[in-house]
Amino acid sequence: MPLIPDETIERVKTATDIVEIISEHVQMRQAGRNWLGLCPFHNEKSPSFNVNPELQIYHCFGCGVGGDVVKFLQEIDKVSFVEAVTFLAERAGIPVTRPGGSSTEDERNDQLFQANELAAKFFHHMLRQPAGADALRYLHKRGLTDETIDEFRIGYALPGWTSFLEMAGRRGFAPPVLEQAGLAATKGRGHYDRFRDRVIFPITNLSSRPIGFGARALRPDDKPKYLNSPETPIYHKSGVLYGLSRARDSIRRSGTAIVVEGYMDVVSLAQGGVDNVVASSGTALTGPHARLLARYSERVVLLFDGDAAGGTAAERGVEVLLGTEMDTRIVTLPTGQDPDSFVHRDQGANDLQQLIDKAPPALDVYLDRMAAGIDLNSVTGRARAIERLLPLISECKEEVRRSLMLRRAAQRLDVDETALRADLAAAQSRPAPARREPEATPDSPPPPAREPAMVNKLERQFAGLLLQYPRLLAATARRLDLDVFTDHEVRRLLDYLVSAYPDGRLDLTALLNSVDEDLSRLVTVCAMETFDADYVDEIWEDHVLRLQRESLTRQIDEAKRAIRRVNETVGPGEELDRLRTRQNELMAARMALEARRGGAGS
Ligand SMILES: [Zn+2]
Repeated sequence: MPLIPDETIERVKTATDIVEIISEHVQMRQAGRNWLGLCPFHNEKSPSFNVNPELQIYHCFGCGVGGDVVKFLQEIDKVSFVEAVTFLAERAGIPVTRPGGSSTEDERNDQLFQANELAAKFFHHMLRQPAGADALRYLHKRGLTDETIDEFRIGYALPGWTSFLEMAGRRGFAPPVLEQAGLAATKGRGHYDRFRDRVIFPITNLSSRPIGFGARALRPDDKPKYLNSPETPIYHKSGVLYGLSRARDSIRRSGTAIVVEGYMDVVSLAQGGVDNVVASSGTALTGPHARLLARYSERVVLLFDGDAAGGTAAERGVEVLLGTEMDTRIVTLPTGQDPDSFVHRDQGANDLQQLIDKAPPALDVYLDRMAAGIDLNSVTGRARAIERLLPLISECKEEVRRSLMLRRAAQRLDVDETALRADLAAAQSRPAPARREPEATPDSPPPPAREPAMVNKLERQFAGLLLQYPRLLAATARRLDLDVFTDHEVRRLLDYLVSAYPDGRLDLTALLNSVDEDLSRLVTVCAMETFDADYVDEIWEDHVLRLQRESLTRQIDEAKRAIRRVNETVGPGEELDRLRTRQNELMAARMALEARRGGAGS
């Protein structure tokens, strides 16, 4: 494992607030001492994702993920430990000397991130060079200011076939790496630049790091008009929305996400003061996109050009969103207008805001459009409309909402609601057709991991207490035999804690990095237990006594079983006497304990 000095990691972590970092990805509210939100790693409706600001760790009770801020970044951005620490260090202004890499998957991803960052810098730089004059003129003509261009890091790719390859080669990036990063392509013998003579829009992940590019042709006869990075190990189109890293705060604040179709629309609207806007990049809107948006707001407004609203991509987007629980609205601009041109008019941003506030429900617009294209007066027409509608409605998982959709559809199509309901039931009982989109994109979260088998709540609480108040470790080692713990993992954890931190100076980061996956999961889940800080010693004492009592009860039960067994097989004798003595001793011990516990409690 490549090494960053421990003291640097320590400094970076001290300078970083996990709540702040995670808030950039997850909408959270304070719940007691912890922060609570919807888990970004699995699909859920009620929040089970917890962040503990005191211990600077997170844990999801739904899928079992957990760790510190570095682990969070590793998971959400799919980067290595070193890359995550480096990112946090840069953010905090702490210098890090990067170690040399090995050849793991993480290291490869790091390289791809670096190649994309280099490309973003290169393209942006070239825009202001003589070669980029046409591109810059084009952007100015579209009404973009230099500030906007810089903010979105818009750039220009040179027309030559190897300009970027050569520059990147001098910085140590081999052509195959650039190809994997989506920046180079191959033909016959050699590699060449994927993007040539185009205006470049960097596409970033939620940590604002470039992971791909959208490239617009400068000349009308250059095809295609838009060229995008291919899917790469770090760029999964169905999981990325252009502009989201920048827009998400504003989406959260305004309670609305505006979805447009192009990069230029996002940039122009942002310049016009409409910040809560994103676009899908290089693909139609997908289910994962919708789930991504749902993390930040419950209301989505699709903003369409006057001409594009009938496009299949637009329709797909509507269909995807109708199947979610989001309040989906549609704004269709007047014919001939696109968001870019609309916002540039006088009062454009104002007018747009009004349209957005009054946007009609997507289902109504969808039904209207359908009604316009199909003759609803004919029986076959209505049948066709229903055929198209039913899968959409059945996709909707919420009963109330599905009912509402049925009613509106029945009204609009002028069919009997009960009949429509029956059709839906029939459609649902048929075997499901192949899904319209692959659910398992490389970006989807892993299947929920099993929580470690922790039947014993008491033991888990106790481990949590020790993790949060490690000064109690020494006393615990003196008072408790580890055999009192029935949970194998808890026992393993406490065994480790007692031997690794005899002086009670526990460092959670170091701990998480030095134990295996099972234990680290257990650490984060236990650490989410909360205790009243004023009564820590009393709570500890009470737990110790209860653990001892439970252990004694188990031993007594065991002794009873043994007595019965010996009685039935061997009969009276030395062994039976020995077992009875043992049982009596245990019961006496339990009584003494109970007396003590009663005393402690009063
Ligand atoms: Zn989760």
